[in-house]
Amino acid sequence: MIPANGIANNDAPLSLLVIGAGPAGLSAAIEAKRSGVDRVLVVDREREPGGILNQCIHAGFGLFHFGEELTGPEYAERLVNAAEESGVEIMSETFVAEIDHDLNAVLFSKSLGYFQVKAKAVVLAMGCRERTRAAVAVPGTRPAGVFSAGTAQRLINIEGYALGQRAVIVGSGDIGLIMARRLTLEGVEVAAVVEIRETPSGLPRNVSQCLKAFSIPLLLSHRVAAIEGTSRVTGVVVESLNGGAPERLECDLVLFSVGLIPENELSAMTGADLLGGTNGLQLTGEMQTSVPGLFACGNTYRVYDLVDEVSREAGIAGRAAAAYLGCQKCGAPSGAGYAKSGGITSLSSETRTVMGQDQGDVSRFMQSEKDPSSIASDVVESVMDEPLLCIICPKGCRIRLGSGGEITGYNCRRGYEFALQELRDPSAVLTATVAIEGGMWPRLPCKTTKAIPRALLRAAAASLSKLSVSAPVSLGEILARDLGGLGVDVVATRSMKKL
Ligand SMILES: Cc1cc2nc3c(=O)[nH]c(=O)nc-3n(C[C@H](O)[C@H](O)[C@H](O)COP(=O)(O)OP(=O)(O)OC[C@H]3O[C@@H](n4cnc5c(N)ncnc54)[C@H](O)[C@@H]3O)c2cc1C
Repeated sequence: MIPANGIANNDAPLSLLVIGAGPAGLSAAIEAKRSGVDRVLVVDREREPGGILNQCIHAGFGLFHFGEELTGPEYAERLVNAAEESGVEIMSETFVAEIDHDLNAVLFSKSLGYFQVKAKAVVLAMGCRERTRAAVAVPGTRPAGVFSAGTAQRLINIEGYALGQRAVIVGSGDIGLIMARRLTLEGVEVAAVVEIRETPSGLPRNVSQCLKAFSIPLLLSHRVAAIEGTSRVTGVVVESLNGGAPERLECDLVLFSVGLIPENELSAMTGADLLGGTNGLQLTGEMQTSVPGLFACGNTYRVYDLVDEVSREAGIAGRAAAAYLGCQKCGAPSGAGYAKSGGITSLSSETRTVMGQDQGDVSRFMQSEKDPSSIASDVVESVMDEPLLCIICPKGCRIRLGSGGEITGYNCRRGYEFALQELRDPSAVLTATVAIEGGMWPRLPCKTTKAIPRALLRAAAASLSKLSVSAPVSLGEILARDLGGLGVDVVATRSMKKL
């Protein structure tokens, strides 16, 4: 990371300004730099780079981009390291307040105060913001205890607040589903997730691993008709769209997970064309907006489900910006030194198609990796009333167990192994936070080194909540050995320096 005065001290003209140091901005910057752009500066208003990933302490990131399942902070740290190694300059606590059609930007930074930047090209990567209670017009009072799900996620996972004891979640978007599980592991009772539509809006794997696995009720075709409480929320009134008497659910916490809107206030200042319905950006060429030299990627462009896809398309934006700047090396993805392990070789062909990737000889892999017998004789007695949803990747294969113990419906070895594990001994890696003394934040994200029985997740989380460590801590450092006698260690999922 450059010192905040890097701009003032460095006489070299700025080639590329990237606004936002989330996975989109960082991935674009890395690819631009690797394509030969001389000075690439990424600015972000937050205290540290990484964007929304820093608060997403759960696993589910990186299967495609890094070839292994990572938590959000782990994914972010890899990108930050890759950016720094490739010579990208990053300025945190720096807010872009204005930018015009000619790419003149006005910035405010904690260390530099007010300053202006004129870059030859700009990549917009400001992410998105959450829709609020107002957007879905839920009537009632306006007590404390009502948050958007992402705000609650930050308050709990980064800032260490306890927000309530009994929660209702409005909307079944992915963030709401993930927060239902997170609250449960924090000891909060989740009374229900209330969804106005007939089907959940989040990914099937999140419905499975966040709600079903913890027996959290999902009320489909229901709406929250009123929020009650004066100083603090005391409950919500829930109505079925199919009729019947309204029901009152007691709670002291209400989270809204009702959609995301691309963050495009700055984009509008440049005169770039926006998409009316979604507030996303209208692109004209390879990740290029209607304004010459202005590129866009990530949730600013359109809201993505998967960070891996954000990184992939942001890389295209970085290379396109490099091409615009006349760099020679642009074209194919650099890829060098980016993924830690062997790419995405463990994914099915269908999955790759879904992700828009073209990674070569998948069918050979499928033949070699698929278990030839696929018979799990030791689980013949298991009963599967309905297909098992594979949660290894977002594709969500529906796996079946035949009467002879044959397992079908999976598309890769990981899916097969997941099914065997679920049938023999349902388990999951626990992701949580521990208290940290002397660090940038009061909470440090962590995970168990192996999966633990699902029935023990809550107890393990409760015992972790008593753990306190001291900064500095490195990514992967062991924080506790043999958690609760379960034979698993607990490791840090991010580095945190001493303040
Ligand atoms: C709560 C949540 C859970 C998710 N869970 C998963 C998951 O399990 N698996 C998965 O693959 N994907 C998940 N995603 C999706 C994925 O993480 C996002 O699509 C991805 O992080 C978007 O990256 P981004 O860089 O576009 O935006 P962000 O990560 O939001 O980064 C945008 C950055 O821009 C900065 N910024 C904005 N405006 C300005 C300004 N004016 N000046 C300076 N800086 C500015 C912000 O501070 C922020 O750091 C999740 C997303 C959310 C919101």
